[in-house]
Amino acid sequence: LDAGNERIKRTQDMNQKRIIELQSAYDTFQAEELRLDLTRGKPSAEQLDLANDIDGILRGFYILQDGTDVRNYGGLLGIPEARRLGADLIGTDEANVMAAGNSSLTLMYQYIEHQLETWRTLGHETLKFLCPVPGYDRHFSVCEHFGIEMICVEMTETGPNMDQIEALVQRDPSIIGIWCVPKYSNPTGHTYSKETVRRFANLPNLAGNNFQIMWDNAYIVHHINDYPDKLPDLFALAKKNGAADQIAIFASTSKITMAGSGVAFMASTPNQLGRFETYLSDQTIGFDKVNQLRHVHFLKDAAGIEAHMAKHRLLIKPKFDLVLSKLATLDGRNIASWTQPNGGYFISLNTRPGLADVVVDLAAGAGVKLTPAGSTFPYGKDPLNQNIRIAPTYPSIDELDLAMDVFVTCLELATLRN
Ligand code: PLP
Repeated sequence: LDAGNERIKRTQDMNQKRIIELQSAYDTFQAEELRLDLTRGKPSAEQLDLANDIDGILRGFYILQDGTDVRNYGGLLGIPEARRLGADLIGTDEANVMAAGNSSLTLMYQYIEHQLETWRTLGHETLKFLCPVPGYDRHFSVCEHFGIEMICVEMTETGPNMDQIEALVQRDPSIIGIWCVPKYSNPTGHTYSKETVRRFANLPNLAGNNFQIMWDNAYIVHHINDYPDKLPDLFALAKKNGAADQIAIFASTSKITMAGSGVAFMASTPNQLGRFETYLSDQTIGFDKVNQLRHVHFLKDAAGIEAHMAKHRLLIKPKFDLVLSKLATLDGRNIASWTQPNGGYFISLNTRPGLADVVVDLAAGAGVKLTPAGSTFPYGKDPLNQNIRIAPTYPSIDELDLAMDVFVTCLELATLRN
């Protein structure tokens, strides 16, 4: 017993010594009055510069082969050339694709609003959506906006827990959809496995005719190393199961060209696109076709997109490597666990339960802004208060280096103090 007590005492003394060191490092950071930000999942200025040639690329040629003048009204599903580009990006047939405005999030919001016209006739007291967690906060905001109740589903390395999902949709018909970021998911960076996608392709058959899968493929071509994850074609699999009307795929060039001035795409069946087009026609005569054509000229096709993304990779990969090397200094000490994604925009980190908000507050106190604890969960409530999303792309390497030193210090300090 004495030997045991002795060991505990020794560990306590070591921890105390380490806390004093960390506190001193923290005080030094604080004195530097830093203003660093790890919250923004957006491209850096250098990444945006890669697409500057888009400006002026049309050189006055606005008329398409079929005679359409892209400066004028009309063409709600997008110009054929842009639909083809979207089909190349998503990996489907252009008849299944619409090209729209600058934001896929807007399209998703509009698609949900359009579906609500049907969902509200079903007679359910409450409409519910499944949300794999941790997930993308803006998906959750859309549900909250429309009063759709959110049910959390566990996210794993191979995608959401499909046993849980299949059981829930069979038990409760008021569950009318699910959010998915199937490739390099926000924030974990995981890609759904073949088996997961196969089960998703059959999910509408278990859930009923009104169930919609919101397949947000925001990071479809955004790998950061030479071994991209492979995502099976959900749409083709669902078609075989007679469930393609219930798949809505979204993507955009926001993180390919310019985040605020890209082109968004949606893919579904021509039948479903037609219904959505009718709904949209009450609010717009058409999206920005000039920008669609500029993107076609700039990116051209799948090979053009891939070549452009290789340039992004050169800028982004060193930033992910830096973040991971800083986190690696905590390896094997039971302080935190984190993902090591092959693509996307984020690293997802779990502190020991109950510490995420403490770490975020500590970092804020030293001038490093982190995404608020809880924001990767519906209603901003992380039940274990442990998830923190790190976004490495926007800061410069030097800023990131310093911000991660602060972060790692705060993480260790919060853990040892607890
Ligand atoms: N979907 C996911 C999963 C995202 O992470 C983001 C941006 O961070 C978006 C959609 C936004 O896409 P867009 O710029 O096309 O609206």
